Amino acid sequence: KGTIVKALSGYYYVRAEDSDPNADMVQCRARGVFKNKGISPLVGDEVMFSLTENGEGTVEEILPRSSELIRPPVANIDLAILVFSVTEPALNLQLLDKFLVHIEHAGIPAVLCLSKQDLEKDGVETEEAQAAAASVNRIYRSLGYEVFGTSSRLGEGIDALQERLKGHLAVFAGQSGVGKSSLLNAIVPGLELETNAISNRLGRGKHTTRHVELIEIGGGLVADTPGFSQLDFTELGIEDLGYCFVEMRKLSPDCKFRGCTHLQEPGCAVLAALEAGVIERSRHENYVLFMAELKEKKRRY
Ligand code: GDP
Ligand code: ZN
Repeated sequence: KGTIVKALSGYYYVRAEDSDPNADMVQCRARGVFKNKGISPLVGDEVMFSLTENGEGTVEEILPRSSELIRPPVANIDLAILVFSVTEPALNLQLLDKFLVHIEHAGIPAVLCLSKQDLEKDGVETEEAQAAAASVNRIYRSLGYEVFGTSSRLGEGIDALQERLKGHLAVFAGQSGVGKSSLLNAIVPGLELETNAISNRLGRGKHTTRHVELIEIGGGLVADTPGFSQLDFTELGIEDLGYCFVEMRKLSPDCKFRGCTHLQEPGCAVLAALEAGVIERSRHENYVLFMAELKEKKRRY
């Protein structure tokens, strides 16, 4: 039994269960039977494999997946680190909620990471950054999300984040420039992912030719390519949206009507909570906005 940590040119690289992290991975081909069934192994898959005479292997069986992400194509991710910088780029709660909707929809537990905290102390936009950090801490902690604060530049908060990743198969998510690559570099000794500053100078985008690979970090695995890069609502149904906002998910059984969209229905528990100040205004505003976006999308296709 093992985990596929890399896929390249028709080969799957499998790390055997309980093997030394430094042990060689087994280079495997997939059994033809998968192709006939229309499924192919994914990075992150837990598989049963057999060894062939030349020291290579064959993937015999793919074990059931707990989750399946499309970008990057990784199975069994069980933790998303949603990264937002306190400034540069400025914190955007609408984007944060949009990322959370996608992560919740994928059924993956999320934690938040507020990066670039060194800029909160001595940056040019100190006040704005402090306000942003305060609002994220207030709103999202009360929703039950863990919030980590980090500075890759100063090496702060890195240990705590690394500790949190233990025993998980994690993916970093967040808009470009928030410091995901820098965090990965800080967490994984020896990893030298390109950061924005470098790739801009070379005039090419990051991760264009990269293949996703899982990196071992003290008893956990982390995808070296950020996830949820595409934030359109193509796979989301109108009735799914409320379910992707944790506080609305909790309250919706109390709504008078089944399938309540929490927009204007009488007896809506979400709207009542909003009036009572129990639900954060920005959260409901973003919900309304995403709902309109979703409806527009459905109308066009
Ligand atoms: P990504 O696009 O999310 O992977 O972001 P990068 O890791 O490429 O970082 C984007 C830019 O932010 C780069 O210029 C980094 O040097 C800078 N950066 C990353 N982390 C920090 C940090 O903790 N503090 C400061 N001041 N800058 C950072
Ligand atoms: Zn409702």
